[in-house]
Amino acid sequence: MTEEISIQRHKCRVCGTAFDFNEDETIYEDLCSRCAERKFPLAFAVRKRIQESCGIVAAREVFTEKHDGCLPNSMIGEDLMGDIMTLFKAIGHVVAEAAGLPEEQHTVIVEPSYEDTTWWMITKDPPKTGLPRAAESQIVLFDYTKAWHLGGNLAEDQVEEMLEGWKETIVKSTRDVRLVEDAVQLLKSAKLSLLS
Ligand SMILES: [Zn+2]
Repeated sequence: MTEEISIQRHKCRVCGTAFDFNEDETIYEDLCSRCAERKFPLAFAVRKRIQESCGIVAAREVFTEKHDGCLPNSMIGEDLMGDIMTLFKAIGHVVAEAAGLPEEQHTVIVEPSYEDTTWWMITKDPPKTGLPRAAESQIVLFDYTKAWHLGGNLAEDQVEEMLEGWKETIVKSTRDVRLVEDAVQLLKSAKLSLLS
């Protein structure tokens, strides 16, 4: 029995070199992985995550394939809400990590909707202490959009720009925003100084 492997030589549209395009594995048809990582690091990373959870076709079609529903068909399984969460979580993890918050230091929370706006946020979590310290989590990104606005006919540089925007927001938030506990503390001392 011979296994059929469909590898073709494709030409990279950026550097012009030939690379192995494997139908079952390679995400970009016209970009070598080196150029993909250099030019579109965030978009490439999100696609790789989508590939892990939804397969190679979804990884190619997300963002750029025209579709009528809120996600490309290749991303839709039996649980549409779960699939929308998968997309936003993939995006959230990639932009948070790129902003300097590794997986164990952030949480992506998604409130999915297939007919309306999906709300999502990323929190910077305190180091594990064994005690619930949710109140000390810092919201570093809060955003809402309709899932279908993330897909359909976007050019790859537009996708990268969109992801870069979220990353920048997180970078700024991690610098500026106070922890909820700090804010409560400030409020208390403000009240005390008013009383005294
Ligand atoms: Zn290249």
